[in-house]
Amino acid sequence: MGLLIVGSLGLDTVTTPFDKVEDALGGSATYISLAASYFSGPVRLVGVVGSDFPEEYIRLLGDHNVDLEGLQKIEGGKTFRWGGKYHYDLNVRDTLFTELNVFESFDPIIPESFRKSKYVCLGNIDPTLQLKVLDQMDDPQFIVCDTMNYWIEGKKDELLELLKKVHVLIINDSEARLLAHEPNLIKASKMIRKLGPDVLIIKKGEHGAMLFTDNTIFSAPAYPMETIFDPTGAGDSFAGGFIGYLFKSRDLSPNSLKAAVIYGSSMASFCVEKFSTKGLEDLSYLQVQDRFRGFLNITKFNDTE
Ligand code: AMP
Repeated sequence: MGLLIVGSLGLDTVTTPFDKVEDALGGSATYISLAASYFSGPVRLVGVVGSDFPEEYIRLLGDHNVDLEGLQKIEGGKTFRWGGKYHYDLNVRDTLFTELNVFESFDPIIPESFRKSKYVCLGNIDPTLQLKVLDQMDDPQFIVCDTMNYWIEGKKDELLELLKKVHVLIINDSEARLLAHEPNLIKASKMIRKLGPDVLIIKKGEHGAMLFTDNTIFSAPAYPMETIFDPTGAGDSFAGGFIGYLFKSRDLSPNSLKAAVIYGSSMASFCVEKFSTKGLEDLSYLQVQDRFRGFLNITKFNDTE
């Protein structure tokens, strides 16, 4: 079987109204892998770092049962760096800088032993690279992908090519509107699903997430939290929890997809409680299940008629 995750690994400099961290562990593949690792291991990671990437971060991933055979370390190269600043409304984020560094010439080579992975999660990277990953896979059965405004605007043709090949697309509400050229999310979801993915998930930050399939619309809230320290990686943690649960359950039924959305939301809620990846570092599966049950409690109600 096997679960393959491809995306960025980076060093993030993040400022929120509460604090600032420099060169903290970040990147889409990092958050996806850590979140997925609580469900079933090992998680197979493919990505690239420079020689300045701290050994302690590599150890942290290894300690979470992440198989690093596909991690390329470019000697003399500099790791991908991203800087972001959040406002008092934590839904609003400015990107301060993006330094691609070793990521600029990243060639995602999938090790032979990873090529038979049946579950694949394509983190947010250039759709040309996402396509290149799929070309190397033997017979993947379930492909989840993420993207962002940057690629929707800059690499539309490649993205459309990719969407024909994936089963699930996870994007946020503004990206869905941009991709479909349609402000209404219900209409946009129908248009996007026609482009390829059977399943579409639209994330809405602190307003939760929506799942769209052929005959289902499922709306999940975000977990009500008093402490949100750092929203960085919430979307990627969602994707990790979503695919991690489905990989563990081996069940792709509509009910299982809904549970996966709640597990994704659970991992996102842990992620934002602390800075960088700290909220995903020391969890237990019991805590994850408790949060899942917490979601059930805040959404359960009886018909009063
Ligand atoms: P999220 O908050 O879920 O959008 O993910 C934030 C993470 O994405 C950060 O840890 C960044 O290092 C990473 N990131 C930001 N911009 C890019 C980019 N253009 N390509 C790949 N990863 C990125």
